[in-house]
Amino acid sequence: AKAEPSPGLVPDTARETVDDGEPVIRVEQAWKWFGSTDVLRGVNLTVRPRRTLVLLGPSGSGKSTLLRCVNALERLDSGLVEVEGSRVGLREAGGRLHELTEAELCRQRVRIGMVFQRFNLFPHMTALENVTLGPRRVLGLSRAQAEAEAERLLTRVGLRDKLDSYPSQLSGGQQQRVAIARALAMKPHVMLFDEPTSALDPELVGEVLDVMKDLARQGMTMIVATHEIGFAKEVADTVAMLDGGVVIESGPPGECLVAPKEERTKAFLSKVL
Ligand code: ADP
Ligand code: MG
Repeated sequence: AKAEPSPGLVPDTARETVDDGEPVIRVEQAWKWFGSTDVLRGVNLTVRPRRTLVLLGPSGSGKSTLLRCVNALERLDSGLVEVEGSRVGLREAGGRLHELTEAELCRQRVRIGMVFQRFNLFPHMTALENVTLGPRRVLGLSRAQAEAEAERLLTRVGLRDKLDSYPSQLSGGQQQRVAIARALAMKPHVMLFDEPTSALDPELVGEVLDVMKDLARQGMTMIVATHEIGFAKEVADTVAMLDGGVVIESGPPGECLVAPKEERTKAFLSKVL
């Protein structure tokens, strides 16, 4: 269990839901295929409030697909994903499941922040504008409210002096920290990170991992796909090792990363360490 979160990056809405009861994310018998290729083959996972799950696994093992299914960017072919007790991408009515409309999907996605390998900032907008856009358009904040919140978040990720910089004027690590601030500005209850440091020069990886460590420490519920084993050891509550669309091993990092049971986990770790 983690220490009581300090105020800062994590919105109050996330902290209100933090008792240790129900999982924030539940993935049950998740199957996903593209044509004749099975990409997820019966994945089961749960993430409890304020916990960090680190997803490890070789390239092509299904990490991105799994994260995209949690965020309803992809649809499962079988099984279920629940976020805070509701089915992702579907709702029940009259004893049947119905696909969510685009508007309903948007409302569901607001609870889930996502950070990608490529930062995907809007190139023609400053850091501040990148962070205020969503809250103004989707949350209906006034410009002044959105800017105050964006300044606070950009300060927290160490970019107070870069508010008016354009992405092209920022390093990769700085751009990724803007992307994290942008996701947090939507007050998500869960953050998904898909290899957030893989596209960075090695000397810039640490500053992004530090922001993520801070978030975890403050009690954000997170799933992080990464090859950063040091981060996993330090921050993960649970590590899940994915291979060929199956979780082949999962547990606390002190077990899975230190004394893995599966040969494939050992082989993977020996490559990335
Ligand atoms: P990882 O993130 O672990 O590298 P991915 O989830 O990106 O793995 O990919 C898992 C497998 O699914 C790969 O074999 C990939 O080629 C395949 N895949 C992913 N997205 C698609 C798609 N849209 N169409 C067809 N195959 C896909
Ligand atoms: Mg991937």
